[in-house]
Amino acid sequence: MNAEERPRSPGTRVSDDGLTSDVIPVRHFFGTRDTPVGLHAHMQLGHITGGHQEFPSIVALKQIHSTRVVVIRTDRGLGALEQTEGDALVTNQPETLVVVRTADCVPVLLVEKTRGVVGAIHAGWRGAVAGIVAETIRACVEEFGAKPEHMHVAIGPSIGPCCYEVDEPVMNPLRSRYPAWPGVLQETTEGKGVLDLKLLIHHQIRASGVPDSQIGRVDHCTHCRSDLFYSYRREGQVNGTMCSGIILPAA
Ligand SMILES: [Zn+2]
Repeated sequence: MNAEERPRSPGTRVSDDGLTSDVIPVRHFFGTRDTPVGLHAHMQLGHITGGHQEFPSIVALKQIHSTRVVVIRTDRGLGALEQTEGDALVTNQPETLVVVRTADCVPVLLVEKTRGVVGAIHAGWRGAVAGIVAETIRACVEEFGAKPEHMHVAIGPSIGPCCYEVDEPVMNPLRSRYPAWPGVLQETTEGKGVLDLKLLIHHQIRASGVPDSQIGRVDHCTHCRSDLFYSYRREGQVNGTMCSGIILPAA
């Protein structure tokens, strides 16, 4: 990326790995089309893989738009988790990169430094409405004794309200399961509305007990910024996905 192409968003920086958020105090990235270099080649979905020069242990799931959180609490070794499905990963293992892939859905990365826990979430409207964000935070609390008030959470690039028109199959479940829906959904014409998925997720993180000052947002829209991101909706098909990840340093 040259200087003119660099995206600007408060609290967002550009590294060789991708975009980062100032609120997260450990190594992490929200990938673009081009970064992090070589990561895709070393990932095998539903497995723990290795081989990337900088990330000796990479975990990525077969994502299914669920609320399934996969917890990795011991060093399981390469190849473990065979064909594992889910949409969020949490671990207390150092030097283990947890990755989610997105095109228009929202990647969310979190860390609780005092307990040494990191997590990565893939949240589309379906997973968000069903509660994957709260499930993931709860898993960090129940499995590792993490405290939401000590968490730092960043919401990554995804389709923005500028481009996200939805219809009844999305609006109905949102209205029935999320009482505060008028704050995130603007109804337009009959049966249509504009959903601010990032704002919905921001509210959910806050409702789980994370202080607002510890929630960051990389506010780029994947649909608007074709120079940086793939977009399923813009392209009409899956041409590629962005990888977002977070890793605890060596113990
Ligand atoms: Zn947009």
